[in-house]
Amino acid sequence: MTDFLQLGIRKEINYTLKSLGIEAPTPIQERTIPSVLEGKDVIAKAQTGTGKTLAFVLPIIEKIDVHNSDVQALILTPTRELAQQISKEIKRIMENVEGINVLAVYGGQDVEHQLKKLKGAQHIVVATPGRLLDHIRRGTIDLSTVQMFVLDEADQMLLMGFLPEVDEIIQESLSSPQTMLFSATMPNEITTLVKKYLVEPEFIEVKAKKV
Ligand code: ADP
Ligand code: MG
Repeated sequence: MTDFLQLGIRKEINYTLKSLGIEAPTPIQERTIPSVLEGKDVIAKAQTGTGKTLAFVLPIIEKIDVHNSDVQALILTPTRELAQQISKEIKRIMENVEGINVLAVYGGQDVEHQLKKLKGAQHIVVATPGRLLDHIRRGTIDLSTVQMFVLDEADQMLLMGFLPEVDEIIQESLSSPQTMLFSATMPNEITTLVKKYLVEPEFIEVKAKKV
């Protein structure tokens, strides 16, 4: 049985995962983590509840340079609940890892609070598209340093009408980062977006049961 160490995850994180009852990678994690660590663009399709969050969170954490205070990873997600959930998950996983900061940016939360946080070093930003665009337009966030970009729950983004905002964020703010797209289904509009922005992506599809 493959474990997280064999996939390239450091032992401090493997230890935390175990303490959380997460012993073995799910199929989507097993196939996605090595490719992301190699720096490949990835399209991962797997149904809800198959562990897609850790499939991108774990390799991203491995690749963050704590000696560099720039925003290095951007995770876009359709709802504030998901943004909160993912940033909480990242903090939980980093219990035994020093120095990586994560900030959630979403609508409905006090902008002043977000502005104050944005002044400090934030390595990972988890955001909803609308509020992130507000910050981009105000000039209060610099995403030109982002090296890893995740579009999470891409089909939900489409359903909620966020693809134009996603498009604007990619075009206006990002400088060709490694890109990862995660979705339960792959409608045409998503395929079009993939073709526009991903470079020789690896397509990973898992037809598995839920965790
Ligand atoms: P998805 O994004 O595919 O819908 P999530 O990433 O939200 O799924 O994961 C669903 C649940 O499975 C979460 O509660 C998560 O903590 C749990 N989980 C993720 N990976 C594992 C694993 N390898 N072993 C056990 N539980 C896991
Ligand atoms: Mg998910």
